Amino acid sequence: SLTIGIVGLPNVGKSTLFNALTKNDVLAANYPFATIEPNVGVVGVPDARLTRLAEIFGSERVLPATVDFVDIAGIVRGASEGEGLGNKFLANIRESDAICQVIRAFKDENVVHVDGKVSPKSDIETINTELILADLQTVEKVLPKLQKESRIRKDRLPVVKAVEEAKEILEEGRTLFSAGIRQGTERAEPLHELHLLTVKPFLYVFNVDEEELTDDAFKAEQRALIAPAEAVFLNAKLEADLGELDDEAEALELLQSVGQEEPGLATLARVGFETLGLQTYLTAGPKESRAWTINKGDTAPEAAGVIHTDFQKGFIKAEVISFDDLVEAGSVAEARAKGKARMEGKDYVMRDGDVVEFRFNV
Ligand code: GDP
Repeated sequence: SLTIGIVGLPNVGKSTLFNALTKNDVLAANYPFATIEPNVGVVGVPDARLTRLAEIFGSERVLPATVDFVDIAGIVRGASEGEGLGNKFLANIRESDAICQVIRAFKDENVVHVDGKVSPKSDIETINTELILADLQTVEKVLPKLQKESRIRKDRLPVVKAVEEAKEILEEGRTLFSAGIRQGTERAEPLHELHLLTVKPFLYVFNVDEEELTDDAFKAEQRALIAPAEAVFLNAKLEADLGELDDEAEALELLQSVGQEEPGLATLARVGFETLGLQTYLTAGPKESRAWTINKGDTAPEAAGVIHTDFQKGFIKAEVISFDDLVEAGSVAEARAKGKARMEGKDYVMRDGDVVEFRFNV
């Protein structure tokens, strides 16, 4: 499954946030036999549709889609120079599908800032610079080889051209992603073999003081620093405290006392899921209502394959009702009677909110 790597300067609250993430671990609760990796936090993506489906179908439980967050050992200035920890750090990022930067905005004299002052802007620049330098090194290393190779292999020319373009962007101090060269798109395709870091989507967590959670002017200022990437504002300590509470009413009270409707981790899971470019479809029955993760553009058999490879191999058709139609009808039988249930074949491209039952041969 796709993962989001958590990075940030020392003392910004990464461990605190990560501990809160693992306390919310939906794996432990829902998949008792799954292996739980110490450096991975699996967080449920809140989805009100599942609660509604569970009412309609009388489901015993709901299983949301999940996002995997990986704790990546602290970035150090000079990581791109490839010394010890730095190497490991870059290798871990290479394996992540998106990068979540934790940025310190909270003020606390007892917590030392590595640069002596709290400045989201300069922290973001520090981290981006390391990633850009690492990519620049990769690019400079392969470019002469590629240029030579392309003299005899004309099919390598598009790669040379893409690498030269990437080099220019990086030399300007910009990430490839911000220049529109994004992992999974056609422009990034010729660069795939280089495993670059800054083609990955970024998202930002601002670890803020409680007062700032409701300070719209402050938040707008931070958002401007990182646009068009997404920002999530949370207080890591508060999130950790929320994780300690077993009582839902108490947790809600704590959230309301700081003007929040949902935990920051819930927002983070949702934004993370979006950042990874993923989509869900839904299944429902008396046992469970569940969201399944697929890629945007996946067909019905591909979606079936997420449940079981046999479902994909033996795929016959899918009965699809859109969530809104199902809720309006109130039951599958009524939706069918109203002609809202569609039989879709193997070329059907899944849409967000499809409630599906697959027919297959075993
Ligand atoms: P890391 O080095 O980025 O993993 O940072 P830690 O999670 O270890 O946090 C460093 C210090 O900052 C610890 O003493 C935390 O208790 C403290 N800290 C973390 N988050 C917050 C916060 O939101 N507010 C305040 N005041 N302190 C925090």
